[in-house]
Amino acid sequence: MKHVLVVGGGAAGLMAAISAARAGAKVTLLEQNKQVGKKILVTGNGRCNLTNRDQALSHYRGSSPDFIKSALFAFGLSETLDFFQELGIVIRDRKGYLYPYSDQASAVVDVLRMETEQQKVKLALNTRVERIFEEKGRFFVETPGWTYEGDALILAAGSCAAPQTGSDGSGFCLAKSMGHSIIKPLPALVQLRSEDLIFSKLKGLRMEAHVALFSGKELLAEDTGEVQFTEYGLSGIPIFQVSRYGVKALEERREVWAVLNLLPFLKKEDAPDFLEKRIQTGAHKSALQLLTGLFPKSMADCLLKRAEIKSNKRAGELTREECERLRSACISFEVRISASNGFDRAQVCCGGVDTREVESKTMESKRVPGLYFAGELLDIDGACGGYNLQWAWTSGYLAGVHSAQTKK
Ligand SMILES: Cc1cc2nc3c(=O)[nH]c(=O)nc-3n(C[C@H](O)[C@H](O)[C@H](O)COP(=O)(O)OP(=O)(O)OC[C@H]3O[C@@H](n4cnc5c(N)ncnc54)[C@H](O)[C@@H]3O)c2cc1C
Repeated sequence: MKHVLVVGGGAAGLMAAISAARAGAKVTLLEQNKQVGKKILVTGNGRCNLTNRDQALSHYRGSSPDFIKSALFAFGLSETLDFFQELGIVIRDRKGYLYPYSDQASAVVDVLRMETEQQKVKLALNTRVERIFEEKGRFFVETPGWTYEGDALILAAGSCAAPQTGSDGSGFCLAKSMGHSIIKPLPALVQLRSEDLIFSKLKGLRMEAHVALFSGKELLAEDTGEVQFTEYGLSGIPIFQVSRYGVKALEERREVWAVLNLLPFLKKEDAPDFLEKRIQTGAHKSALQLLTGLFPKSMADCLLKRAEIKSNKRAGELTREECERLRSACISFEVRISASNGFDRAQVCCGGVDTREVESKTMESKRVPGLYFAGELLDIDGACGGYNLQWAWTSGYLAGVHSAQTKK
């Protein structure tokens, strides 16, 4: 019987351990926290958006996007749903975003833990892995109290995102020590910061908007949804969705601008007519009153300031240029992005173990046979919506099953 060692008891490590044990291996899972699945508990605001019905590959990002394709083909959405339903999870479907019916992330951790018990996976908790090495085809894992020895080793130690849950980046050092290249990890699914002073006035505001992220004339990414204005800049799902592209561009020392269309319910070409009609019917109103009912007051003040229009000017007296500036402020509200929040506020990292050095069908290292990777440690990051957990389930399953069959 093969002995498989798994480093990290998050979503990917738990899935890997269960899959290896079901495939006939003896499994030891080493986790530095006193409990497994700490990060799963905070996912989806405590409800755990465990996957998504829409599995278009565009929801997954990394330096080699093709890598994900064969992995998802081997263990994708339907296999994931079968797996969790077999463990007792009934699925709640919110417009394709899938959750446990109880809306409790703890239920997902509980069923995974129950299955590790059922499969007789040995859990070594409060056990920090400090060094790993291979000698004569055997893997050794050093912890402060013990050196574990196995036939195969799965690294599922997460990234640097949300280090308060345990993923402190040590997995990257362990992978590097085995000869693997690491694409520089950067925060992703994260808030974007701006030094623009308007944010002190707009903080607390939430508005539907279309967000387009630009570097020069290049459109980096776009999304629509509820944007949150905070004292440091922009937050909310559409900001999270585009953030990794902005973070990467900033890392390359390129300028990044977020352009918000605050009238996302209109086609862009309809915006002049829309404002024109509003001015005609509200010609007697002040410019500020003209925007009442369309924008919150703090945003209306800000738009008029940007359009260089006095708030008490009569709407009917606005010049053509002023109307044009107002339209532009409404549909192309520009924010210079200076940075993102750090790893402590990021949901995931982009970057990680270079997937060109890993077999996409098995998650086995091309450099060290018998060494496997799973989860966020790899250079794959998903969009918001259950894609990062899906990647953890997919890669964890493949690493688990194939490590149990390792030829070493
Ligand atoms: C607030 C928040 C909300 C999120 N919501 C969602 C969501 O709704 N849907 C979704 O798909 N994704 C979500 N994500 C992302 C998702 O949770 C992660 O991508 C996923 O859990 C990563 O799983 P993992 O097993 O690869 O890593 P992790 O869950 O980080 O697990 C790694 C484990 O390894 C352990 N470890 C690390 N180093 C060592 C070491 N040296 N020795 C021993 N143990 C070690 C850590 O303690 C940790 O338990 C969210 C993330 C956050 C932070």
